[in-house]
Amino acid sequence: MFRKNHLSVLVIFFVLAGCRTHDKGLETALEGITADIMKKHISVLASDDFQGRAPATAGEEKTIAYLAEQFKKAGLKPANAGSYFQEVALVRLSADANMTMVVTGGGKELNLRFSDDFIGGTPHVADEIRIDDSEIVFIGYGINSPEYNWNDYSGLDLKGKTVLMLVNDPGYATGDPDLFNGKEMTIYGRWTWKFEEAARQGAKAAIIIHETGAAAYPWAVVQNSWSGAQYYLAGNELSQSELQLQAWVTTEAAKKMFESAGLDYELITASAAKPGFTPVRMNLKTKVHFRNHAEYVKSSNVAAVWPGSGKADEFIIYTAHWDHFGINRDFEGDSILNGAVDNATGTAALIAIAEAFTRLPARQKRSVLFLSVTCEEQGLLGSEYYAKNPLFPLNKTVAVINMDGLNITGKTGDMTIIGYGYSDLDDYALAVLNKYGRYANPDPFPEKGNYFRSDHINFARVGVPALYLSKGVDDVERGKEWGMAQSEKWIMENYHKPSDNYEPDIWRFDGMIEDVCVYFEVGYNLSNTEIFPDWKPGSPFKSLRDEMMKIP
Ligand SMILES: [Zn+2]
Repeated sequence: MFRKNHLSVLVIFFVLAGCRTHDKGLETALEGITADIMKKHISVLASDDFQGRAPATAGEEKTIAYLAEQFKKAGLKPANAGSYFQEVALVRLSADANMTMVVTGGGKELNLRFSDDFIGGTPHVADEIRIDDSEIVFIGYGINSPEYNWNDYSGLDLKGKTVLMLVNDPGYATGDPDLFNGKEMTIYGRWTWKFEEAARQGAKAAIIIHETGAAAYPWAVVQNSWSGAQYYLAGNELSQSELQLQAWVTTEAAKKMFESAGLDYELITASAAKPGFTPVRMNLKTKVHFRNHAEYVKSSNVAAVWPGSGKADEFIIYTAHWDHFGINRDFEGDSILNGAVDNATGTAALIAIAEAFTRLPARQKRSVLFLSVTCEEQGLLGSEYYAKNPLFPLNKTVAVINMDGLNITGKTGDMTIIGYGYSDLDDYALAVLNKYGRYANPDPFPEKGNYFRSDHINFARVGVPALYLSKGVDDVERGKEWGMAQSEKWIMENYHKPSDNYEPDIWRFDGMIEDVCVYFEVGYNLSNTEIFPDWKPGSPFKSLRDEMMKIP
């Protein structure tokens, strides 16, 4: 079981303090990271003209052309055999929104309404999906994890069946630090993992019960994410599996299902968090029919390189996803999801940092790859594609620094290291922050599973050390409580909604600029050392890295 050691991080914090020397070149580079530069790029990327930057739309064409143009102007080289683009083959699936889910049993018939009560679609490239009389089994958290000695699927034959399960994991539910990672969500708590496991187990349909606390976002976020087209990597494993329906239901709808079955929702869901839980055959059957539109489309990652001098075959990668949700007519009035914070800010930082590297009076040793990936919002697909089809060898890829959703509320004393304690990259981040009198915080919302929710995770999964350094919460003027409240408020009001707009008169750029300078400097330091930072002992990704580093 992987546990973080906060004490060791503290020790390193003090050892590294004051180690920095005066660096004129660095100063020159940093001077060019300004609010004006950030405003310039964000205002373009988050403009209505870019139509919310949905993959495989006119909005994508504008976005990737803009990024390539900026990299070219800055003098960066195309990273993919003369091209700034890495094509990602996708399949776009649109389920008919008129579908209903009928649940029968206990002498009752429940008609669940799409969007209000449930939402979902199929990963299959098929014109029509028909699920009839599929028996529903409540399988607790739907987790099969040898490390945590937990298997909700033990002894079940799920062929043709529908699994119903809870989101997050038993550690979150109980708060017991000895169960999973306590309140911190593990990878098994993520919905993506749950659907994948249901497919591996041979289920025909999988339904996750939404709960705002456990999912880390309200039902509206699930509704927005699952209405409209869903994207998958072409030829992915889910599409080859027996799983024909991935769906979510509201807590209220789930309670009605339990009620029909004559089962106690509270009692049974609570028992699901205890070791030894046995799945419950609910004596309910589900029927779901819908038409499905499948289309093969292409999207692109944008990749530009600023070559190093001396160690040019080794790479530092900066990632920021360029995509967002495009236009969703279900929203009345403003229907463009401009994704200003998420992630025009990170994408703008990618350009600003690339430009900063070009201003260095002396070349850094290692090469730096600027990778703006597609389809993050559709399940981190662009980064998954890159990690499986890297443009440069992974064992020469020193580190990944991911940027997603920058600070718009003012200076903070801290920055947040999501997944604090996983790798040595924490120490590089701490050294830079400390130099500026700042500090790092572990994720103040560990239950949200943020380490599994942005592009760096796909690099971690193949073994490459990846840092997800995120905005802080310790607001310099108004304190930490205010900062935390702002963060929560933004998620409730604007996350994945049309209101995530560029607001130059409301946003503050001082904190953002400080953070972008930190991103730059962490990468700069990594580009000038010969050290390969590693995963910390006990980290789940370490053995993969150890393996690949044996190959010269
Ligand atoms: Zn994002």
